[in-house]
Amino acid sequence: MTPRNVLKISFLVIVLLLCFLYVSAGAFQIEVSPHEISPGDAFIVKVTDIKTVRLPAISLGKNRFYFAKCGEGCFLAIGAVGIKTKPGDYILKLRIGKKTKNLKLFIKHTDFPAMRLTLSEDKVSLSPEDKRRVKRENKRLKAIFRRVSRRLWEGDFLLPLENDLSTVFGTKRIINNKKISVHSGVDIRGQEGEEVLASNNGKVVFAKELFLEGNTVILDHGLGIYTIYMHLSGFNVNSGNSVSKGDAIGFVGSSGRSSGPHLHFGVKVRDINVNPVSFVELEL
Ligand SMILES: [Zn+2]
Repeated sequence: MTPRNVLKISFLVIVLLLCFLYVSAGAFQIEVSPHEISPGDAFIVKVTDIKTVRLPAISLGKNRFYFAKCGEGCFLAIGAVGIKTKPGDYILKLRIGKKTKNLKLFIKHTDFPAMRLTLSEDKVSLSPEDKRRVKRENKRLKAIFRRVSRRLWEGDFLLPLENDLSTVFGTKRIINNKKISVHSGVDIRGQEGEEVLASNNGKVVFAKELFLEGNTVILDHGLGIYTIYMHLSGFNVNSGNSVSKGDAIGFVGSSGRSSGPHLHFGVKVRDINVNPVSFVELEL
């Protein structure tokens, strides 16, 4: 073989190698599941076989969701849409390094139940002082839910109490013929004093009494994901504690504005109220 031919073959090998590297770098797999959801549901975006070490980024409109590592070359993000999202096709924007990809997400039309109640005015309206307290408390909660800390959750989230639901997510509460609120979580039946379990590993960022919600625990699971436990009769944790999935964090009660012992369980993803049932069904 002439030196000229050796040079030619070497050049060809290098070109082929570069082509192979280029193709394999772009051959990552993407999965959105479920890709058809209801308003208020959570979803997962999983990217596998990525050769890059940099975290991908995903957004839906103005909302950004955060990826966590799920193994070698595997990244996973939990996203959600608000309950007021209109049905139709939506585009998730995925960025991996310098590449962007549009992913489809379909929001289906969903009818949420309505609950009509007739109550005396003193049970519906708040005094100016109580109104100020509620406003103050809501502002404080909002500041908590905006924070994005490091990931603590591991694997699937669980329901904190294994009983039937008494009020589902999204129920419209119509009191004295006026639409008062939309149920931001689920109500789970329970006996006074029954143990309430941590839905996943996390940090206690709130364990105090609130005017409407009663004794409330909030767990920060990292990456903008929080779970909320309301109307407790008592606490088993303090703010600042670390908890593991399944730890007893408090006890079922009827504190705050509540008509009897039950657990109100809520989930927040990037400050969006998420249907806890759709959330615990995610395969993480
Ligand atoms: Zn509730």
